[in-house]
Amino acid sequence: MTLRETVRAAVLPGPGRPIELRSFPRPRPEPGGAILATAGSEVCGTDVHLQHGRLAGVPYPIIPGHVACGRLVESNGPLRDVEGRVIEPGTLVTIYDVFGTCGACWHCLVAKAATRCPSRRVYGITTSAAEGLLGGWAEAIEVKPGVRVVPLPDGIDELEFLGGGCGLTTGFHAVERAGIRMGDTVVVQGSGPVGLNAAVFAQLSGASRVFVVGAPAERLAAARRLGAEDTCDITAIGDCAARVEWVRDRTSGRGADVVIEASGNPAAVPEGLEMLRDAGTYVVVGQYTDAGDVVFNPHRHVNRRHATILGCWGYEFTHLHRSILLMAKHRERFRWRDLVTREYPLEEAGRALEDMEGLRVVKAVIRP
Ligand SMILES: [Zn+2]
Ligand SMILES: [Zn+2]
Repeated sequence: MTLRETVRAAVLPGPGRPIELRSFPRPRPEPGGAILATAGSEVCGTDVHLQHGRLAGVPYPIIPGHVACGRLVESNGPLRDVEGRVIEPGTLVTIYDVFGTCGACWHCLVAKAATRCPSRRVYGITTSAAEGLLGGWAEAIEVKPGVRVVPLPDGIDELEFLGGGCGLTTGFHAVERAGIRMGDTVVVQGSGPVGLNAAVFAQLSGASRVFVVGAPAERLAAARRLGAEDTCDITAIGDCAARVEWVRDRTSGRGADVVIEASGNPAAVPEGLEMLRDAGTYVVVGQYTDAGDVVFNPHRHVNRRHATILGCWGYEFTHLHRSILLMAKHRERFRWRDLVTREYPLEEAGRALEDMEGLRVVKAVIRP
């Protein structure tokens, strides 16, 4: 496993700017750090938001690609997984893309809400290309000291893993937040990667029925392949009240026990609360960027409904670790790799972004 003296990366110079290919000197690992030869990196909705400048505090220029995997080239000091086992060069690994979480601030220690730690940083999102190769759209990735490296289990190759991508872990976290009980009926709003993975993990959590509300048709077909009992195409049923009826028709008029919002559209929230049964649980995970305000009725939607409403921000190492274990266990049943519609070389990273934005792909993968 060797790298050339110069490695290439796809750089997003700033909001609204096209992707540029740039060359960087071959990185060397810091003490406690490591270098990966990239096997692949995902393209996700966040990358589209980054190109449009819809996220605050992004230190452009950046190398996008917050979830990636690669083979360990070298480390500066022994590298161990969370079980304490040494990771050998050549091993296919991913990294927990979050680092810098301090473990010492009020959020980390008192609230125990590490995803809200102000020091928290994320590969490919809050890392500048000036700091190094800290994003997956590059031939090599620098693993900073302290960044957790996760060997992919046997049978999980880069396409399987990236078919899940960040949606795997985000969907897992949202389902954990929802506290689904065995036998529950779950509605997922949104058929992107987060919604599809939420549908998967809802089933693994014991939901007896899962319905997915979204578009376009290819994503809804993927939802049904992944076990959704039925899907509601929002382009065919364009009226909010009719979609609520669609859910109530399938739930004895009561609404779903749990509704998970993974759509990114603020209007989905009051609609989803209408789809929820009395005393049900509603999880908002799709509003990763600020897409605007919405009106809801506190009496009808929350108080009288006796609803539990939860937000879900990012994920912690535990969610990555456990979601990968479940992928390894259930890959024959759910076939995450089939979610990868298309692979793109680095030169076509801009095209991959366009296809993602146009919803022409379920999951796009960059193969440097
Ligand atoms: Zn992502
Ligand atoms: Zn902290």
